[in-house]
Amino acid sequence: MNLHEYQAKRLFAEHGVPIPQGDVASTPAEARQITRELDGKVVVKAQVLTGGRGKAGGVKLANSADEAEAHAKQILGMDIKGFKVRRVLIDKQAPGIDQEIYLAVLIDRGRRLPMIMASASGGMDIEEVADKTPEKIITAHIEPQLGVRGYQTTYIASQIGLPRELWRDFHKIVAGLYECFKSNDASLTEINPLVITGEGKLMAVDGKMTIDDNALSRQPRLAEMRDVAEEPEAEREARLTGINFIKLDGNIGCMVNGAGLAMTTMDIIKLFGGDPANFLDIGGGAKADQVATGLRLILSDPNVEAVLINIFGGITRGDEVAKGILQALSVVQTNVPMVVRLAGTNAKEGREILAGAAMETAETLSDAAQKAVAAAAKAAKANQE
Ligand code: GDP
Ligand code: MN
Repeated sequence: MNLHEYQAKRLFAEHGVPIPQGDVASTPAEARQITRELDGKVVVKAQVLTGGRGKAGGVKLANSADEAEAHAKQILGMDIKGFKVRRVLIDKQAPGIDQEIYLAVLIDRGRRLPMIMASASGGMDIEEVADKTPEKIITAHIEPQLGVRGYQTTYIASQIGLPRELWRDFHKIVAGLYECFKSNDASLTEINPLVITGEGKLMAVDGKMTIDDNALSRQPRLAEMRDVAEEPEAEREARLTGINFIKLDGNIGCMVNGAGLAMTTMDIIKLFGGDPANFLDIGGGAKADQVATGLRLILSDPNVEAVLINIFGGITRGDEVAKGILQALSVVQTNVPMVVRLAGTNAKEGREILAGAAMETAETLSDAAQKAVAAAAKAAKANQE
């Protein structure tokens, strides 16, 4: 789950990370009122769960309450990368910005450790920095038993060319960010940019935070921060149905039981030259209703040109899955080609239920993947013509 900038920054501040004074507004009049209280020089910032708001026109400086109100009027309701702006953050302007630094604490899954990541090239798209000038990204791993060590922040500070007099504060910020990361079960805490102000102080002017969904049960305060209005419709429906669904960019929709099998299925699709449109785990013991919802979610993605259903029945029963497929097809009209592989518990019964449906069957996963890739390629070609 991602938090909004204002939520992330408030959590950062609880751990001693300096942030600008500010508040959230959902109307231009509120923006005006907050600006008055902040003495007039503010930055009006769209609160949407996506980055690059600055480039999209969602971050604007204002030098008076009138100006802040006008900017808020323009930004509220704006569409940024498919997210509608419902609130703006009104922050006191930084007293000049001398430098923009990138700083994050995140999980390095490869090393199975939290990692500090920093760069002197802050402010811009960090993926682009990593891609074009990887040497500008400095990292250090954190041993959870030890926490952030002074020598680590000294090393990073020197590598990114931070003035010597800011090293102590930099250490406090990194250590605070890590504490914030750890105590909130985050998988990412990111400040981009951490600025050196005209007064020579470090300050977090942006904030991003991703919370591990699996930890929300022990983080009730964070669970309440979820912005349901911002969640894509399909993801909300999946969450409420207990389906694990993540949309991807390919054209082959996948419905699988079990996260491991779902990943394997995506790998095999890739191996045969295809591109998965989503990750979808219907979970163990899924009933027909869940299967139907899963298939509806897949078919609601306009990029999907073929569907691969791969079920290895253990607790999940082939006949329940088959019923769910028919249930979905009775409400969604579609001519997207489908390939089904049912194995394990009640697979035979499942296949009998599906006998009349217009779908290809497959015995093995590799056979199923090849058929799905071929069907998607054919459909893509037909759609082009
Ligand atoms: P993003 O585009 O979604 O990452 O939004 P940011 O919060 O990072 O804002 C984009 C850019 O706006 C920053 O990189 C800064 O250059 C600028 N900006 C943000 N806050 C302030 C501020 O208080 N004063 C000034 N002068 N610029 C700011
Ligand atoms: Mn930013």
